[in-house]
Order: sequence, then structure tokens, then C-alpha cells
Amino acid sequence: MATDSMTQARFTPKDLPYAYSALAPQVSEETLRFHHDKHYVGYVNKLNELILDTPYAQQPLEDIILAADGAVFNNAAQAWNHEFFFEELSPEPQALPTGALKESIDAGFGSFAKMKEQMNKAAVALFGSGWVWLAADREGKLVVVSEPNAGNPMREGMKPLMCIDVWEHAYYIDYRNRRADAVDALWNRIDWKTIGDRFEKK
Ligand code: MN
Repeated sequence: MATDSMTQARFTPKDLPYAYSALAPQVSEETLRFHHDKHYVGYVNKLNELILDTPYAQQPLEDIILAADGAVFNNAAQAWNHEFFFEELSPEPQALPTGALKESIDAGFGSFAKMKEQMNKAAVALFGSGWVWLAADREGKLVVVSEPNAGNPMREGMKPLMCIDVWEHAYYIDYRNRRADAVDALWNRIDWKTIGDRFEKK
């Protein structure tokens, strides 16, 4: 019965925590509708299909990301990465880090401006599709990590703090091939309150 596969769907796509039009003009309503409703929801639905009647169907999303390879890893990580990405953006962002996060950024990079410059460079340099991450390494030091495709630094034992989606679907409607402009605009929507909360969470 059709209802069986519905009730067995393991993961439910999360709604955006703001209106589709809330991040304009940096990210247009059209981009967010495609990005969330087609790409992100597509990864969640595909993951549910792939893990149906497998041991993964009982596991938390993070455990699947750490254990799986191939298509299961790709769709699980893309689901997680997009939820993390959408959550760190805000219509009314706190523009700069404060407190312990600010101190760690200054210690790791010299300044917020230098960290931003390093992430921008990594975003432009990443060949093809992928994600640029701000993460805390095993020693707690903040680092910039470039990951191709669905890559997530939690696979290397790091704690993800912030990510920039550099897949073309994230910016092509608004910026065409101008990835640097898309990334530059995105900084106006990054909520450092959210990133700070992630940093302080054990
Ligand atoms: Mn994306």
C-alpha cells in the first residue's frame, strides 16, 4: 500500500526557519524555493528510499554519515549539510562573532576578516561542487576545510560550525557563474549567534 512507504519514511524534511523571501536580495525567493524544496527535500526523500529495510533505517542521521559510503553517504550528508546551512542564515543576523567564538577565531586566524578571506578563497578555489566549512579540529583549533561533493568534516573527527554551499544550485539562478559574488553576499546573512551556540554546545 502507498501508505506503508509513507509511514516508513525515516526522515522528514525540515521547513525553512524563515520565509522563502526573507533572505532577499542576497538569496532570492526563487533560489530558496529550488534549493530547499527541490534539492534539499530531494536528498531527504532519496535517503529514505535508499535506507528502507536496511540497518541504516534505525540509525540517527549523524551515525549514517559516519558509517556509510556511496549513495547513502551522499544523500545523508547532503540532507544534514543543508539543514545546517539553512539554520545558520537569518533575515536578522548577528553580523559578527562574540565571546568565546570570537576569541577562537582571533586565535586561529588572527582576525575575523582574515578568517572570512580564507573561507572566500577556499570557496572560489573549490573545483566543481562542494562545501567550505569552518570547523573545530580534534584539538579545538578553528580551521577552514574544503570538501568536495557532500563532504562533511565530522568524518575527520572535527566539529562543524558553519558551512558555505558552493554547488551551482545554491547560486546559479541569482548569480549565474559568479560564485565569488554569491559567497560575498552570503556573509550578510550568516547569523553568528547561531554559530556561537554551535561552538559552545558540547
Ligand atoms: Mn545546496
